[in-house]
Amino acid sequence: MSFEYPPAPVPVRATQAKLSEAVTGCRACDLWEGATQAVIGEGAKDAEVMLVGEQPGDREDIEGHPFVGPAGRVLDQGLERAGIPRDDAYITNVVKHFRFRARGKRRIHQKPDRWQINACLPWLHAELEVVRPLVLVCLGATAAQALLGSQVRIGRDRGRPMDSDLAELVTITTHPSAILRAEDEDREEAMAQFVSDLENVANWLSARRAA
Ligand code: SF4
Repeated sequence: MSFEYPPAPVPVRATQAKLSEAVTGCRACDLWEGATQAVIGEGAKDAEVMLVGEQPGDREDIEGHPFVGPAGRVLDQGLERAGIPRDDAYITNVVKHFRFRARGKRRIHQKPDRWQINACLPWLHAELEVVRPLVLVCLGATAAQALLGSQVRIGRDRGRPMDSDLAELVTITTHPSAILRAEDEDREEAMAQFVSDLENVANWLSARRAA
């Protein structure tokens, strides 16, 4: 399906600034057409931790920054409780444009298709090259399966080291939006599990610094 689209125009010697500029001209899939703008990752240049979600949501699409909507607030709480300063991390998504369907005035999130994810992956690999994080945390199944393979399951694999050479530690947890969607009585437990997964990352970093 993507054969009719040009490849993602990823700069050869990329920097965060160059990626941020170049992604605005990406036409490697159809998602740019309905979105307000591309949203590339943001964070510390030499971040030890990179967190990767699925795609920008409604707020992110409007504001042009990753994880600034309701899911971003959950992520902030999780990072704070785990002792990982958001300002020390780099936060991004597998797909850089918001996919949605319109329902009246509302824009309802739609999961990106496999071909759209594949078309967008060069941006994420470029971000990994620029940031070179020690730890890569996949937030949710879309990111985890895009980077680690379709066999990955959040419920079974979350919180533990995954076999990957993308970073020294590659791990997965739930997407913060899943915590928002949890039933009231389950939300606290879902948040506690999320924090526990992030604490594993914080503990790994502490142990590595101490070694
Ligand atoms: S979603 Fe990704 S591949 Fe598709 S147009 Fe946007 S930046 Fe390019």
